[in-house]
Amino acid sequence: MTYAKPLPVPDVETRPFWEGCREGKLLLQRCGSCGHTRFPPTHFCPNCQSDQQTWVESSGRGRVFSWIVVRHPVPRDVYAGDVPYVVALVALEEGVRIATNIVGCTPEEVTADMPVKVTFRQATPEISLPLFEPS
Ligand SMILES: [Zn+2]
Repeated sequence: MTYAKPLPVPDVETRPFWEGCREGKLLLQRCGSCGHTRFPPTHFCPNCQSDQQTWVESSGRGRVFSWIVVRHPVPRDVYAGDVPYVVALVALEEGVRIATNIVGCTPEEVTADMPVKVTFRQATPEISLPLFEPS
């Protein structure tokens, strides 16, 4: 069965992140100069402009910062079976926010500051998507 929804296309900046997801690890960039943790991946540190970086594994734990409930599938053909679903910003323990879906509960059960943890859903052999569920 093929995956019909849009998928990320890893590039030189994001490939380590997606390889981590494939291995069940949520990886974040940490500046090799000032120690600032950042997401999404970028070449230069937004804090000190250094191009030195390492990848560190997130705890995978965070809290719901904000969310919306999608009730109208767009495009209709590939998302019709998913609505309603939750698109959220999760604030990770490491101090960065990640756009994701909340799964494992109904949209009505999602609350502000709700503790969540990462879970990975394989879309293709190359891409596993980092989603979050109540913890
Ligand atoms: Zn820095």
